[in-house]
Amino acid sequence: MDALMLDGNAAAGLLQEIFGSEMTTAVGTCHACGTAGEVGGVFLYRGAGLVFRCPQCDAVLMKIVVGGTRRWIDLRGLRALELDLELGT
Ligand SMILES: [Zn+2]
Repeated sequence: MDALMLDGNAAAGLLQEIFGSEMTTAVGTCHACGTAGEVGGVFLYRGAGLVFRCPQCDAVLMKIVVGGTRRWIDLRGLRALELDLELGT
């Protein structure tokens, strides 16, 4: 990992704010390669926004841009996102 690359755990607070649940243990499935893994384990790049990339194939899974009180969320790189609400409390 380089200095600009983190993992999904670094966005835990923002993800919880948006989804209303603990998201680092949610399991996302990459649309490109089909790999499933916890959101906390994906690669996270911070720039003008947050870009979450698949650790297996490097495809973009999710993008989030924060501007004031607004959030723009692009989930098109995820085939599925599985949340266990019992774990998320
Ligand atoms: Zn992938």
